[in-house]
Amino acid sequence: MGKQIVVAIDGHSSCGKSTMAKWLAGQVGYIYIDTGAMYRMVTLYALTHGFLTRSAEDNSITIDEAGLEKALADVDVSFAFDEETRLPLALLNGKVVEKEIRGMAVSECVSPIAALPFVRTRLTQQQQHMGEKKGIVMDGRDIGTAVFPKAELKVFVTASARVRAQRRYDELKAKEPDLPIELSDILRNVEERDYIDSHRELNPLCQADDAVVLDNSDMTIEQQNQFLLNLFRSRTEA
Ligand code: C5P
Repeated sequence: MGKQIVVAIDGHSSCGKSTMAKWLAGQVGYIYIDTGAMYRMVTLYALTHGFLTRSAEDNSITIDEAGLEKALADVDVSFAFDEETRLPLALLNGKVVEKEIRGMAVSECVSPIAALPFVRTRLTQQQQHMGEKKGIVMDGRDIGTAVFPKAELKVFVTASARVRAQRRYDELKAKEPDLPIELSDILRNVEERDYIDSHRELNPLCQADDAVVLDNSDMTIEQQNQFLLNLFRSRTEA
């Protein structure tokens, strides 16, 4: 076995980062951490505990930042491994919330929550702790820049907004064919999140200088997986 490394996979919303990150972790026996799920869990907590409200009139959101900051000390965000599906399960205060965190209600509020410095600081520390022993594949927006700036392998994944929205739409519809969603709403959400994620003050989404860029607009899942595995081998077997 080659040396244990940290693999940091960053990129835009819905560009297939987690699919390839999960696959690589399974292939090489590493732990996989979906940091987007961590921000989504905090968002779900804020929504269900009244720290985040949406105006019915103009859809604008209001966050009780002081209240959320105080409550965050009691919010436990973690993962369990589902032996049956061989996939990780997101746990918010010990309860499985996989389905709840993937819906539009959370997707539409997650970027403003993820822009709050006290949320980022807390989750970043937790992520750094998870990767202390290496042997980890982590995906997100700031893994190669802020969480693990010294990661041995950094990949920056992107694809056109239209391709990403279509993939997200297909994924949601495959899970729930009757889901009342429109492709145009998904596209708007993808573009809005890209904007907020790239323009926030603390740790915005940006490509690390030493990241390998992967535009997978015209790649199949198998092709992107193979691309990643080859990169991984080149960094661990050298
Ligand atoms: O990866 P996913 O789309 O599930 O992430 C949801 C949101 O969480 C992103 O749009 C972004 O606002 C936030 N996020 C972040 N930093 C990360 C991972 C996700 O700000 N490392």
